[in-house]
Amino acid sequence: MLTTMLTKTLTKTLTKTYHAITKNDLQTLLDILNQSYQCVGPTVSEQTLKYSSISKLSQLPLGYIDQQRPGEYQLLHNTDSKDYFSITTGAQGVKPWLFKAQEKLWTVSKQDGRIQFNSQLTDEKPLAIMGLRSCDMAALKLQDQHFLQQQFQDPYYAGHRDNLFIIAVNCHRSTETCFCVSTGDGPEIKEAYDLLLTELEHDFIIQSGSSAGHEVLAILAQQVTLTAVTEQQALEKQQRLNAAAQQSRTLPDRPIAQLLAHRLNHQQWNNIAERCLSCGNCTMVCPSCFCHSEYDEPELDLQTSHHFRQWDSCFASEHSYIAGFHFRKETRQYYRQWLTHKFAFWHEQYGRSGCTGCGRCISWCPAAIDVTEELAILCQETSCHVD
Ligand code: SF4
Ligand code: SF4
Repeated sequence: MLTTMLTKTLTKTLTKTYHAITKNDLQTLLDILNQSYQCVGPTVSEQTLKYSSISKLSQLPLGYIDQQRPGEYQLLHNTDSKDYFSITTGAQGVKPWLFKAQEKLWTVSKQDGRIQFNSQLTDEKPLAIMGLRSCDMAALKLQDQHFLQQQFQDPYYAGHRDNLFIIAVNCHRSTETCFCVSTGDGPEIKEAYDLLLTELEHDFIIQSGSSAGHEVLAILAQQVTLTAVTEQQALEKQQRLNAAAQQSRTLPDRPIAQLLAHRLNHQQWNNIAERCLSCGNCTMVCPSCFCHSEYDEPELDLQTSHHFRQWDSCFASEHSYIAGFHFRKETRQYYRQWLTHKFAFWHEQYGRSGCTGCGRCISWCPAAIDVTEELAILCQETSCHVD
């Protein structure tokens, strides 16, 4: 993709090293990326963080931090702050860019008495996404597993995923709802990025993690000064330790999958159902949820019809409607399906739980239901069952 005469020589010296760039140099990186990619990053929109197209440093959320609690998400602004990446997460990570909330899969039309199907796979400008955190990176790995590594590969997801360029960002703080330490997914980002940024007071530490990242870093090195990192490296480690130490929420230190599988009649499912609104927010914001439904939209001439898929949720009654009846009808069953799939049966399908500790389902639940608290009750040593 991006090529330069200097790449070969520079990549040698850039291998496995940390470099620092100034905060203003990030504009040069954006300029380089925008030549070949549609570049998106965190922006402030409607009082939350949203990934939008970016070309200017000024579009990043300079001086903002997020305050997240059960059922609460708030952005605070400090005009004295020089930090671009203090907001940890918004409602969405990378999921909507790869597994789209609504996507046309094919169009079927009648031509000369014959039915013709046309796939809607399109050649898009490659995407560069800036600002993904460790929980997002772990969720991306899970979505890759689901859409790309099963018996059948999803061509729509694969089309968006090809040529995705990731500029991940290490967290230097956690919010009250984060618990990536206890899922083993953060706060350190260890793999799968093209470039990794760590924000310090005056600089960014920048590392490459792929040949594409290497190439971009080599081009950047022609335009700005990459300084060798010594003292900053220690600071970077300390920041990560601080972010980890700020997390108070954890998953129960018990065999969650086995316990949940045997507690399907626990009284707590009823207690949750008294509070849960079945709104499905938790599944919409979850970066690893992948349920969807499909529908057709015929044109008025009745010669052409468009086939779409859109996100669905195990909290929607239609989601459990098969062959004329609903096999899950109550909120208690919806929530139990969600929690047991994510924390128990996911292990059988994907070899790990479906939770990466991002805390979104806690912050964006209008009833302030906290998955870590519910799991703690459901997995208690002495459990209370109803039959
Ligand atoms: S279950 Fe909740 S905390 Fe876990 S990944 Fe999904 S939204 Fe994040
Ligand atoms: S747990 Fe919360 S977010 Fe999820 S469906 Fe119930 S009320 Fe909505």
